[in-house]
Amino acid sequence: MDLGKLEASLKDEPKYRTEQVKEAVFKNLLTSWDEAKYLPVPLKQKLKLKFPLAIKAQLYKSTDGQSQKAVITFKDEQKIETVLMANRTGRNSVCVSSQVGCPMGCEFCQTGKMGLIRNLTAGEIITQLLYFARLLGTNKRIDNVVFMGMGEPLLNWENVVQSIKIINDPKAFNIASRKISLSTCGIIPGIKKLTDFPLQINLAISLHAPTSKLRSQLMPVNKKYPLPELMETVKHYVYKTGRKVMFEYLMLKDINDSPQHARQLAKLLDHPLYFVNLIKYNYTQSQFQASTEKKIKEFMQTLKNYNINTARRYSFGEDIAAACGQLAT
Ligand code: SAH
Ligand code: SF4
Repeated sequence: MDLGKLEASLKDEPKYRTEQVKEAVFKNLLTSWDEAKYLPVPLKQKLKLKFPLAIKAQLYKSTDGQSQKAVITFKDEQKIETVLMANRTGRNSVCVSSQVGCPMGCEFCQTGKMGLIRNLTAGEIITQLLYFARLLGTNKRIDNVVFMGMGEPLLNWENVVQSIKIINDPKAFNIASRKISLSTCGIIPGIKKLTDFPLQINLAISLHAPTSKLRSQLMPVNKKYPLPELMETVKHYVYKTGRKVMFEYLMLKDINDSPQHARQLAKLLDHPLYFVNLIKYNYTQSQFQASTEKKIKEFMQTLKNYNINTARRYSFGEDIAAACGQLAT
């Protein structure tokens, strides 16, 4: 199903038809075109062939009942993961994947170990949201979308942009751009494109190290797009958009969690619109361990002493970080 092409495929139909079809998919959440009694039979036949509505997925619930993970299998049998999280106030966030695997090879990341298998189409990104929208039912809605699942979204620009348009479309998911966030490991050309992108979505940067040397050891991307250039690009983004930027910082025991690292980080984050989210490392099969609670608190205090806006939770996508980042099929 490439729902990303749904609208384009209806260009010869009258406008009200297009709206009926979109309503069937995104508002009424139909799972079969046969349910759309109001559509003419030939159109239904065409839709059945080109845009089958069935989604092949397996659902897993977390023990605390707060999050649900789905493994979705696409036409070519490739699988990705996506996560739905409900926060305390009942708002629903979905973490979507943008690629099968990821080419960036960050040392601490499970998805990185897979390498890149392929990009997802816009329709496959939308399918992840559609799956959870159906699960929630027509009385509830998805409030936030974060591109923090498998893959590097800025390396799949066309499809990610197309999916964001559908997420934002009032006749589709109708989610405001400020409720959509994208996380990147620091693909500079992509951040530049986002700077001029008409929809003002939130930007998150997976930073994870306060110096270029350490960052190169953890994240190979830093060799191609080094920290000083990355920070310059982000500064320009803030200057042009006036929007906040979230820096994600994974707390790795004895690697990047000392008071000195905190001071270096504080100096790096030299703009009032920057804020930090400290992320607890989810154990994966790697040489890393999570920082102790004491170290995380101390680190946070040092940042606060420098007046850096610091949180331990994602305020863009709520608590979804814990569920993401260790996605691999
Ligand atoms: N490729 C993009 C989007 C994926 S976001 C990016 O890296 O930003 C997934 C987030 O989870 C990233 O911030 C990533 O660094 C983080 N992450 C990776 N492995 C993790 C782990 N084992 N525990 C916690 N977070 C992890
Ligand atoms: Fe890819 Fe992001 Fe994982 Fe790095 S952290 S390997 S960029 S998914």
